[in-house]
Amino acid sequence: MAPLTNASVPKSTKMHSKVVIIGSGPAGHTAAVYLARANLNPVLFEGFMANGFAAGGQLTTTTDVENYPGFPSGILGPELMDKFREQSIRFGTQIITETVSKIDLSARPFRYWRESQEHEEPETADTIIIATGASAKRLGLKGEVTYWQSGISACAVCDGAVPIFRNQPLAVIGGGDSAAEEATYLTKYGSHVYVLVRRSELRASKIMAKRLMNNPKITILWNTVATECQGDGDLLNNLRIKNVSTGQERDLPVRGLFYAIGHEPATALVRSQLQTDPDGYIITVPGTTQTSVRGVFAAGDVQDKRYRQAITSAGSGCMAALEAERLIAEEEEGIEED
Ligand code: FAD
Ligand code: NAP
Repeated sequence: MAPLTNASVPKSTKMHSKVVIIGSGPAGHTAAVYLARANLNPVLFEGFMANGFAAGGQLTTTTDVENYPGFPSGILGPELMDKFREQSIRFGTQIITETVSKIDLSARPFRYWRESQEHEEPETADTIIIATGASAKRLGLKGEVTYWQSGISACAVCDGAVPIFRNQPLAVIGGGDSAAEEATYLTKYGSHVYVLVRRSELRASKIMAKRLMNNPKITILWNTVATECQGDGDLLNNLRIKNVSTGQERDLPVRGLFYAIGHEPATALVRSQLQTDPDGYIITVPGTTQTSVRGVFAAGDVQDKRYRQAITSAGSGCMAALEAERLIAEEEEGIEED
């Protein structure tokens, strides 16, 4: 197929692809498997510590993944992502271990540049799948680095069932829907859940707030922030907390701390070119992965502020691949847009 050119864009002598995937988490690799099996020769930029993550994405930072179907005994996060990568390669995906640092979505073919090559001639693609992921916001508390993933987590659904949290007092920080949902979820495992809310009111929706406040296993600590995470060097066992109204500090002995203060989608690359919501998530047409620019699709956490799971990311990666494949086929056949 000849590239879908726009006369106003100078022709590049660099690589041109029918489809380029940016990002290497479950969304990007699932898209790659589908596109490679459809003989579309996808190129996947897996990044070089892009957005602070190794190639493979967020799951490379965790141990056991117990809720990804197909692995009844669980699987280590990095091992799971190695398998995703292996499967992408098996069907012919070209994986490039570089970060895409600049992109121009104003005309087709789309133009993009690799990190440190921003002043060179761009490479081009007919369609692009953005699967750059997201990262949980952290607080940077004293002791946070020591106990991260050793008592501290940013995903109750991922880590709540871990043995160290069973029948133990736990804490959640945040007052939004995520905090409400995560605290409620954690009551299944912990002996009691404390929710630290920095103000005297919740941000959560009424129904979620009601559920939170009516749960006998949950205590909300209003006007309260954490100041330090403490433990035995291996595992967290205490939080220093402070009432911001009175200035009083005290200990809160907990074995688990869950951050639910929001996520940061990795959309700096495209934020001014694609429609995003006020939090920076890429907006897609409901039920699809189509973005505001024809030919650009978004999959995974970068467009999902609600579920943020490996399996939902993989699912939307599949959708993006099928939608890109369909668009390419329609354009090759000369079928016009509706
Ligand atoms: P990500 O996994 O975020 O990957 C995106 C990748 O794209 C990154 O590698 C990044 O470096 C790369 N990238 C970003 N920008 C660029 C660029 N410009 N150029 C090239 N590459 C780029 N989910 C579960 O279902 N079960 C679990 O048990 C579970 N545990 C978790 C534990 C932890 C500690 C964390 C942080 C998350 C966990 N999750 C879990 C959530 C899950 O990891 C995410 O929902 C999922 O990884 C999102 O996939 P993604 O493909 O959208 O992107
Ligand atoms: P959010 O709505 O932005 O809420 C973040 C919460 O964390 C707020 O209470 C905020 O406090 C608090 N916070 C932020 N920074 C903090 C800090 N440094 N220290 C202490 N607290 C801090 O984020 P979210 O709860 O993740 O929700 C994101 C979006 O997803 C929302 O639109 C939400 O409705 C949606 N969502 C929906 C569901 C559902 O419907 N089931 C579930 C999850 C998420 P302030 O209020 O003081 O700013």
